Amino acid sequence: MQDRIVQEYFDKEAKRQNEGIELIASENYPSINVREAQASIFTAKYAEGYPGHRYYGGCENVDVIENLAIERAKKLFKAAYANVQPHSGSQANMAAYHALLKKGDKILSLVLNDGGHLTHGSPVSFSSHDYQFSFYPLDENGRLDLKVIKELLDKENPNLLLAGYSAYPFAIPFKELRAIVDEHNSHSDVHCYFMVDMAHIAGIVAAGLCENPVEYADIVTSTTHKTLRGPRGGLILSRDESLAKAINSSIFPYSQGGPLEHVIAAKAVCFGEDLAPEFKDYMAKVLENTKACNDELAKRGAIVSGTENHLFLLNVLASFNINGKEAQETLESIGITCNKNMIHGDTLKPAYTSGVRIGFAASTSRGCNKAQAVEIADIIFDVLSKNISLYEAKDKVASIVKTWHDVMSLQYPLVG
Ligand code: PLP
Repeated sequence: MQDRIVQEYFDKEAKRQNEGIELIASENYPSINVREAQASIFTAKYAEGYPGHRYYGGCENVDVIENLAIERAKKLFKAAYANVQPHSGSQANMAAYHALLKKGDKILSLVLNDGGHLTHGSPVSFSSHDYQFSFYPLDENGRLDLKVIKELLDKENPNLLLAGYSAYPFAIPFKELRAIVDEHNSHSDVHCYFMVDMAHIAGIVAAGLCENPVEYADIVTSTTHKTLRGPRGGLILSRDESLAKAINSSIFPYSQGGPLEHVIAAKAVCFGEDLAPEFKDYMAKVLENTKACNDELAKRGAIVSGTENHLFLLNVLASFNINGKEAQETLESIGITCNKNMIHGDTLKPAYTSGVRIGFAASTSRGCNKAQAVEIADIIFDVLSKNISLYEAKDKVASIVKTWHDVMSLQYPLVG
């Protein structure tokens, strides 16, 4: 890299990532192969349209690569249809809504402070401008309440029920939600679609370690950069091929122009890695580490959500009498990165919050094991309760990360 300023910050960022423990639940480390594809010459190519139907010449190579990404995505998730062009999870959601709904239609989604995403009806997102949202709350244990969802479906008569979240630590009962929607549709005049945004848990789905929403939802959206461990981007899947035309045209030309074929190449590599049997072992370790950290914090007396996936919520206000912002900053000062997060029934504003969200997808990619996940819980507990100095905590972090792989040299087994 001849641009010295840019190179300097590449190096600084690699050092920051290497020296820290990454516990942000939505992050992960893609392999060298994914990064190489993303940095490839495909970035130079315009390919508006879809394989075989492009608005530009010279698309013979991108067509093969995009078809490869599509076929691998369909195999990975047992889908009849895949669109690999969404630039992000947010754009996948925008296109999915547009494919199924008319402007002004009604969507029933999770209360945002309970773990929904901005595109699930936040006043500051396009979603609430284009559609009318109503919301279902979690129960007193922070779990989905199927009875309440059923009642709200009948009361609100929405055109779409949305499941899949940013900060929900438990398994989502997709099969039961499908049954509830079907039962509602059997006596409602308004047809309700069922959509799942599996951005966070897509890796767990791909590994076969939870129910596959593609079997039950009309449309499933995802990101490719979280638990899937691919490039930053989006994905749309369906079990219903008849939706292909509506979804395709909702991506291009409705909401996007030329696809990012270099990112699509990186998605193809990522899906190849996720199809390898070793990916299942990796994901099982993520779940094991997350649970080990959650359980150790609970054992020490902290208030945690519990977990059935790659993340959990730590109530720092109740546990240490500090807010999420303070906890995030203290942890960052010792080399542990996580994010402040609203928790169920939070009384503080989103800029402060009562909790932090903790996930193990990224650290497990670098080699974190169960004993280290327990050690990390102890460091978090001890530093937030001021049992140890920041200096001592920083030293403990350094001795863990020095046993892990370098973020720049990660390679994962690949099929295909
Ligand atoms: N959906 C969910 C559930 C998410 O958690 C996120 C991002 O965190 C998104 C969608 C949006 O993805 P992106 O940041 O790629 O737009």
